[in-house]
This record gives sequence, structure tokens and C-alpha cells, in this order.
Amino acid sequence: MQHRNWKKTLQRAISDPHELLSKLNIEDVSLISNQANGDFPLRIPPGYLNRIKKDNPQDPLLKQVLPSVEEEHDKTGFTRDPLNENNTQVSPGLLYKYQGRVLLVLTGACPIHCRYCFRRHFPYSDSTPSGENLEKVINFLQKETSVTEIILSGGDPLSVSDERLSKLVSQLAEIPHLKRLRIHTRYPVVVPERINDELLGWLTATRLQTVIVLHVNHANELDQSVRQAMNKLRNNNIPLFNQSVLLKGVNDSVHALVELSETLFSYGITPYYLHLLDPVAGASHFEVDETSAKLLMCEVQKQLPGYLVPRLIREDVDTPHKTIISFQEFGS
Ligand code: SF4
Repeated sequence: MQHRNWKKTLQRAISDPHELLSKLNIEDVSLISNQANGDFPLRIPPGYLNRIKKDNPQDPLLKQVLPSVEEEHDKTGFTRDPLNENNTQVSPGLLYKYQGRVLLVLTGACPIHCRYCFRRHFPYSDSTPSGENLEKVINFLQKETSVTEIILSGGDPLSVSDERLSKLVSQLAEIPHLKRLRIHTRYPVVVPERINDELLGWLTATRLQTVIVLHVNHANELDQSVRQAMNKLRNNNIPLFNQSVLLKGVNDSVHALVELSETLFSYGITPYYLHLLDPVAGASHFEVDETSAKLLMCEVQKQLPGYLVPRLIREDVDTPHKTIISFQEFGS
């Protein structure tokens, strides 16, 4: 029954930008870009929609999902594959960029479409592993004994059925050198009913240590339904971390970032990374430059205990690790 619920919720996702603005009492349809919507269509599930405040075109949740005219502006350096991921695929869907861990792009499907997503142009149809391709992934992992962690990503990996996920995780657990299974997902936040008994069944049965990394950018994304989903995960001893993207007009203020960290922690989630925007075509209006980011984080640091200050990071193409950005030179 629960199994059906999350799929039913997804069927009720809104895909028409005019319908979205109408539900929010926003009359200014000139905000919408049909071109951007054609390129990367609107998708917003009902629970997330309920958290957007009405009558406010500047709402930080609305800005994350509305295909806007600002996306039509090209900016030098903003490209379709900003992290050069096509060159890190060792087998369809398997990205091997960092030592000791691999990332498996399981699906292109997501419960929500985030306008700033660095994979919004990713060629999913050529790059998701199933059938023969999945065999290649397993073969690769069996031979690559230095890999100890596998990250399930996408799209959103929890878009895949529990039956398929359960089978995949069993196959992975048979590879002796694999220790950890990390899942990057936005489902527990945007469709909390996805955290059902079937999912908890395979997630808790595996010998692999499991970690869930969420993606929340603003405190308003969290509500009671999300708290229930987090409680289910926490009650099963699954560590919860969060990574956010620093987004102009969404969370680029000291107040928003402090509130985000404090709210995450009250839900049992540890703030982990705050990413600078990856320069993906169509998202340049969300960019916060590095100097402004450092100044913001300096102020944030003054207001929070150290364990609630996320690491400010940047991803550089061809660098075999994320770059941690120090902001101490702006210190008090
Ligand atoms: S992959 Fe993540 S960030 Fe990108 S659209 Fe899907 S849910 Fe949003």
C-alpha cells in the first residue's frame, strides 16, 4: 500500500508552469520561459508545492523550480557538462573520479526538477545501467579492489523501484571490498512517503554501511511530513547528512544559511557541504561569486557552533577531490 502511495504522489506532480503560478495566486506569467520549460520541464510534487508561500514570486522554493526567463541568458563558462562527467565514465552510468569511491548514475528520473541542477543536460538515455550495462558495472567493481564506497546517484536513485534496488544492493554486497553504500537523494524531502517499509527493508538488511546524503537548500523545505521520514531513517540508525547549493535569491543571506543549518540539525541532519554553483548552462542567474560566498560564511561561522557550519566547497574539473574554500582571511 505504502509502495503505491509514493508513485501516486508522483502522478500528481505539476508540470504546467501556468497551473503552478495560478495555484500560487501569481498573475505575472511573463516570469515563465517556454523555452526553458521545453529544455528541462517543470516538475513539482504536491507536498513540496504546499510549502511554497502564495502571492510571492520571490519565494525561495518557487525559484528553485520555476522555468524562468532568466534561464535564456547565456553566460561564458556556463556549459552543458560543467564537470566534464562524460569523460569520467568507465562504463555506462559509472563515474570514477575520486579515489576509493565510484558514483553510479542509476536513472535520469527525479521527483522534482531543480533549475540549477548540474546534470540537467546529462545524456541519461545513453548512460544508465541496466541489463548488460549493469553486468559491466558489477564486473568493473569486482576487479577494482581499491573501491570501498559506492554512491547511488542520478537523477534520483530512489526513483527506481524497491525490487530493483534490493536486487542491486544484494549484488553490491557480494563484492567483498565494498564497505559503504551512499545514497544521494532528494526524495525524503520532496516526497517523504517514499521512505516506506519496503525501502527500509533492503536498506537495513544489507551488510554495507549505509549513509544518506540529502539535498536541502532552504529551511522552508522542511516540514512535519519530512520530519516523520527522517525519524524513520534515524530510528534505523542511518546517518543523515545534507549538502546544499549556494543560490542567489534562494539562500544567499546569513539569516537563510543560519536558519537552514539549525533547522536541519533539529531534524537530525548534519549540514555537510555548501557548494558553489556548478556553471551549468541555464543557471547563471543563481551564481554567487566566491568572494561573496566567503564573506557570507564568515558571518555564518560567527553565529553557529562549529558542527553546524557546512564546508564551503567548489568542484574543479580534473581535480581528484572537492576543493574546500577557506574563508578565514575575512575573519573578525
Ligand atoms: S538530480 Fe537532484 S538536483 Fe538534479 S534535478 Fe534531480 S533532484 Fe534536483
